[in-house]
Amino acid sequence: MQIDIMTLFPEMCEAVLSESIIGRARERGFVDIRCVNIRDFTADKHNRVDDAPYGGGMGMLMQAQPIYDCYQSLCENAEERPHLVYMSPQGKTLTQEKVKSLAKLPHLVLLCGHYEGVDERILDEIVDEEISIGDYVLTGGELPAMVLADAVCRMLDGVLPNDEAKSLESHYNGLLEYPQYTRPPVWHGVSVPDVLLSGHHENIEKWRHEQSLLRTFLRRPDLLETAELSEKDRKFLKTLKDEQEKEE
Ligand code: SAM
Repeated sequence: MQIDIMTLFPEMCEAVLSESIIGRARERGFVDIRCVNIRDFTADKHNRVDDAPYGGGMGMLMQAQPIYDCYQSLCENAEERPHLVYMSPQGKTLTQEKVKSLAKLPHLVLLCGHYEGVDERILDEIVDEEISIGDYVLTGGELPAMVLADAVCRMLDGVLPNDEAKSLESHYNGLLEYPQYTRPPVWHGVSVPDVLLSGHHENIEKWRHEQSLLRTFLRRPDLLETAELSEKDRKFLKTLKDEQEKEE
């Protein structure tokens, strides 16, 4: 997969995406990531990429021309037009489902805004969708783009040391992950649950699944509305609900 990040701060993105699992995935060729400087494409003789918004108001706005030309340069050698996402607090909030669908694309381009954002005509003409990482405002789109690129990369085959592990993690199947423990078996007087030391794989799987349901029920009950649940799961959740009502 090819991921291109259009930014005014390529070094910031490069620093984050060269480390750890994503850095290794790039080195091993599982994903090709380029951090492209929008400023390199400005036609302004003073190298400017922003200007004051028409109608007045505070702050500056990124101009359409450098962004458009930067995107066109990424399209030049692409087999098909790359999918362009503008990182924006006005977009749809990122979910694991969205991450999974973006990870199937051959070529993804992320546009990082700065200042007050970008000229609306860019959004109308070339942006395919706007994605937010949450209901708060950051100074630039670089951190959101890093979040999205990281989440997408770890969905690609070969990127994680154990590919199956991702299907057990929070949100992958609509539930939160079960609690986990490692050595020592007793720490600060607290023991690891007996079942995890039993070596009985079936019981361990059952315990983990129930813990996953319990966690989701307690912390994110909204997820249960869309999660895929078996008849057994529904019965288990009904017991939890009954117990909760009794306590209230
Ligand atoms: N004036 C814009 C508004 O009110 O919608 C906010 C601009 S923000 C200060 C600058 C840039 O940061 C945006 O263009 C966007 O790329 C990025 N950004 C800020 N918060 C974000 C969020 N929650 N999710 C994704 N991108 C965000």
